[in-house]
Amino acid sequence: MHIDEIKNGLVLDHIKAGKAMEIYRFLDLGSLNCPVAIIQNASSRKMGKKDIIKIDGVLDIDCNILAPICPDITLNVIKDGVRVEKRALELPLEIKDIIKCKNPRCITTTEQELPHIFRLRKTKESIYRCLYCEARAEL
Ligand SMILES: [Zn+2]
Repeated sequence: MHIDEIKNGLVLDHIKAGKAMEIYRFLDLGSLNCPVAIIQNASSRKMGKKDIIKIDGVLDIDCNILAPICPDITLNVIKDGVRVEKRALELPLEIKDIIKCKNPRCITTTEQELPHIFRLRKTKESIYRCLYCEARAEL
């Protein structure tokens, strides 16, 4: 399956090898009616090995939510069989219920109903910190 076999859809390229199933579950791609292809351990000049997810269908998902999990992803948008957009993901300023705070003393460990919110801190490297306890997100 090549990109040009997709008529209208998305290709998530440069997924870190081994992460495709995690992203599949995270985006709940199993619930889609359109064809979804997962390619694992494809060879990559840049990364050695990579995973690719191809979705032949128009989705209303914000792929940027994947950036904290897998920042290397390249998003390709295919329309009428032609790639119309290729871009890196942008790190969202805030992420909610994607990753959990691992600080055992964080309020989110006792207050189970609290959303797990992390905010992006722009430093030399982009890191996320817990809204409640400032613990650094472990991605
Ligand atoms: Zn915390």
